[in-house]
Amino acid sequence: MTPDEFRVFGHALVDWIAEYRSNLPKLRVMSDRKPGEIRALLPTQPPSEPEPMESLLADLRRVVLPGMTHWSHPSFFAYFPSNSSLPSVLADLVASGLGAQSMSWQTSPAATELEEVMMDWLRQMVGLPETFTGVLQDTASASTLVALICARERTSRLAQMEQGLQASHPAMTVYASEQAHSSVEKAVRLAGFGLSNLRLIETDSEFALVPQKLEQAISADLDVGKLPSAVVATVGTTATVAVDPVEAIAQIAARHRLWLHVDAAMAGTAMLLPECRRLWQGVEAADSLVFNPHKWMGATFDCSTYFVRDPGHLVQVMSTHPSYLKTGQDAQVKNFRDWGIPLGRRFRALKLWFLIREQGVRALQARIRRDLSNARWLAEQVDASPDWERVAPVLLQTVSLRHRPAGMQDDQLNPHNLALAERVNRSGAAYLTTALVGGRQILRLSIGSETTEREDVQAVWSLLNRQAQVLL
Ligand code: PLP
Repeated sequence: MTPDEFRVFGHALVDWIAEYRSNLPKLRVMSDRKPGEIRALLPTQPPSEPEPMESLLADLRRVVLPGMTHWSHPSFFAYFPSNSSLPSVLADLVASGLGAQSMSWQTSPAATELEEVMMDWLRQMVGLPETFTGVLQDTASASTLVALICARERTSRLAQMEQGLQASHPAMTVYASEQAHSSVEKAVRLAGFGLSNLRLIETDSEFALVPQKLEQAISADLDVGKLPSAVVATVGTTATVAVDPVEAIAQIAARHRLWLHVDAAMAGTAMLLPECRRLWQGVEAADSLVFNPHKWMGATFDCSTYFVRDPGHLVQVMSTHPSYLKTGQDAQVKNFRDWGIPLGRRFRALKLWFLIREQGVRALQARIRRDLSNARWLAEQVDASPDWERVAPVLLQTVSLRHRPAGMQDDQLNPHNLALAERVNRSGAAYLTTALVGGRQILRLSIGSETTEREDVQAVWSLLNRQAQVLL
């Protein structure tokens, strides 16, 4: 494709995306395709001759679009928002157009220095002190893996790095709440701690970690000669957006010299609002912290920010020094390849730069306040309805609820709520997800798609009530 051909098809595709975004409310939210249906529309062998771009554009409509679940739809209430704000979509196009690797300062000085500045803008935007330095990772899962590897190396005094599994010292343990995201369990496995050394600490009635239980678990491990290494505090758990008490956990971590990693993957965006920052009070004591601008904030996936208090330790653990990567500036600059696992890195800072400049902090804050207000409105409706039960406090933008009609036996409630979610999703009018907490099957309405307004929340509430009546 020549640049001139690119111009023609690029314009056509930008028009295509603009039309798609304008038409979103008319589309069903969750794809209704069956497993294998999309594959059956695709040739089993690659084309040996070039095909016209026009047929690719036609296939986007014919094959791809019907097989998509629309995350930017105003009635998307599933998982957590994964906003892909249009300025950041344009920035991603620019990053691909530039086609550069931002692994070292020299391989693209602008990518490195823009990333440094964006990390500092974000640090200020969420009210973190200057003692934190940030780097972009692809996902929170990768950030948490990096955090636990760094914890392991601090506890073992770099012995794991040098001798790996052959290092002989007591087994190291990791602590997180029983509501922590599965990425913590995965990181524990991948970082070599072993699942049997992960302690999932009991939570209270609001699904937040109980500090006394953490203290007890650490003491029990010390009594049998284990080496406590790290604790993960979650600010905004995945099932119900519960918030662990960071300050109390930080005090325990400091007493036992544990690495404190804060997982605020979704809820970090709320900290753009000064009135929400009490939720992570004590965060300045964290050794590392992750939050994902690719969730609620609007930077198109992937864009995860990882903040640390001791970048020197991170670089010591993550860096390698092969001759073919050495550059003349290594002593004066940051080479972000040494701040995480992959060598090659996308130019992700561009999408933050475009998003933050095009919106301005005030507009981003206004959108988050709108979502918080919509969640509070929905919570009020649930509380006022005798047939519905709110299962957790609404601290941010997710409402956890279940239908509990009078006369229904307890053992029927879980299948009833699962069937209700299934009906809503199959209707195509809205999309929500479920979770099992404390044995209860809940519906999660996670509000925060960029286009979701009050009337969309009112509509999903009516839909839930209608479908619940039909089921009964
Ligand atoms: N941590 C929490 C609390 C999450 O809710 C999620 C995903 O929703 C993750 C981590 C994983 O995020 P990622 O997809 O960026 O790995």
